[in-house]
Amino acid sequence: MDQPTSLVWLRNDLRLSDNPALVGARRNGGRVVALYIHENAEGLRVPGAAARWWLHHSLEALGPALAKAGIALLVRSGAAQSVLEKAIADEGAGSVHWNRRYAPGEREIDQALKSHLRDRGLTVTSYPGNLLAEPWTIATGQGKSYSVFSPYWKTLRDCRIDAPLAAPDAAGGKLAARGWDGDYKAPHWAAKFGGQWQIGEAAAQQALHDFLDDRLEDYPEGRDFPGRDVTSRLSPHLRFGEISARQVWYAALARIEAEPEVKPAVDKFLSELAWRDFSYHQLYHRRDIATVPMQEKYGGMRWHADGAAETAWQKGQTGIPIIDAGMRELWQTGYMHNRVRMLVASFLTKNLLVDWRHGERWFWDCLVDADVANNPASWQWVAGCGLDAAPYFRIFNPVTQGERFDEAGLYVRQWVPELAQMPDKWLHDPASAPEDVLRKAGVTLGTTYPKPMIDLKASRQRALERQGEL
Ligand SMILES: Cc1cc2nc3c(=O)[nH]c(=O)nc-3n(C[C@H](O)[C@H](O)[C@H](O)COP(=O)(O)OP(=O)(O)OC[C@H]3O[C@@H](n4cnc5c(N)ncnc54)[C@H](O)[C@@H]3O)c2cc1C
Repeated sequence: MDQPTSLVWLRNDLRLSDNPALVGARRNGGRVVALYIHENAEGLRVPGAAARWWLHHSLEALGPALAKAGIALLVRSGAAQSVLEKAIADEGAGSVHWNRRYAPGEREIDQALKSHLRDRGLTVTSYPGNLLAEPWTIATGQGKSYSVFSPYWKTLRDCRIDAPLAAPDAAGGKLAARGWDGDYKAPHWAAKFGGQWQIGEAAAQQALHDFLDDRLEDYPEGRDFPGRDVTSRLSPHLRFGEISARQVWYAALARIEAEPEVKPAVDKFLSELAWRDFSYHQLYHRRDIATVPMQEKYGGMRWHADGAAETAWQKGQTGIPIIDAGMRELWQTGYMHNRVRMLVASFLTKNLLVDWRHGERWFWDCLVDADVANNPASWQWVAGCGLDAAPYFRIFNPVTQGERFDEAGLYVRQWVPELAQMPDKWLHDPASAPEDVLRKAGVTLGTTYPKPMIDLKASRQRALERQGEL
């Protein structure tokens, strides 16, 4: 007798290799059908505009790749339960498979569905596919969750991380993705993104190997310099699971076998990758990290509501060059270098005293890698209310940070071209440049480029006082 069809519900795992749900479904022996649902349910965070753009192209790449393995891809919109039930009925499925997700709202949906479908006589199996280690498997000696990264990292590094799985074999037959959302429209500003990213599983593998071949050795030193472009840029690929964290982990470790001298660089890179798992650890153990400060006392923080200041920040018109460069990089590419993410978040939440949740939401909409764990955990970390956060008195000075990490001005000149002719010495602080220097560089403050919107020293003092009230 023919085996019934196995349905794989894809979510943050848009790949064929190291995809335990696909492997599990294939093992059943029957036909395999994959399903992606654009879900819109209470308790879920709907992807922002830039991430939806990425998702659309990622699904476009996935359909033909799955078809080569003899697996059709259905793309639907709606509530998971009704869409799944219909797909199960249409395809004659006897089992459903998915890789686990970890936000509390997501888990509730998945658990309810699991018992509902089992009650209807289906076999439902979930698998670990998204992280190095599942959040509950890393615990302190007392069985508690971690709130500090270094002991978390030590435990994670010493645990057994499963080796990646092979992709399902190719199979004959031509299959097409079915049920594409006809009404998909890219956000108007995403038109610029197109040339800058290669999307999909093959592109993710290429990005990983390009990084390991060409930039790994520079990573420990160079990763802080936004003009140098030495980081992996894997974040959107990891966000959508076009590549798994385990694949990155094993590929990086394999480099040490070939070239033992790269070990320090691999260690640094993997410790950054581990921050992603640490963010998921936080997400899993808390109710809502996107809106509730992890340090309770921050519930009493008096934020400053200033819409105009927030808009200037969003548009990259603050008059502080490295901040403006970062915000414009974000707008034009859907990405921002990590050091600059820290600087713009510190500027918003400390110098401008705008609530971190506003910044988090702007990033959520604009980042192609906007991640349900990394984005809120990082915002809380910078704002001071997160776990293992920087001490509150450490407030970045964006001018000195710019001078230190973008000394030759490559980054600022790329994203703030109206300052391109400024000499290095004044580039990060044009307001302190002599009149003739500004004139020669074609800069008129307040006309061609904004005057600084805030005094950095006074606003730093104000932030210290405000946080001191907590
Ligand atoms: C305010 C703020 C918001 C952020 N929002 C996001 C987000 O929405 N999505 C996101 O993936 N990252 C976020 N980050 C973390 C970090 O900036 C990006 O992961 C990194 O810049 C991506 O570039 P990369 O892939 O070249 O990183 P690499 O340095 O090459 O690192 C490799 C991978 O490790 C992980 N990683 C690296 N650094 C961190 C970190 N500090 N925290 C968590 N994971 C990390 C990422 O998955 C990254 O792709 C945020 C950081 C800040 C300060």
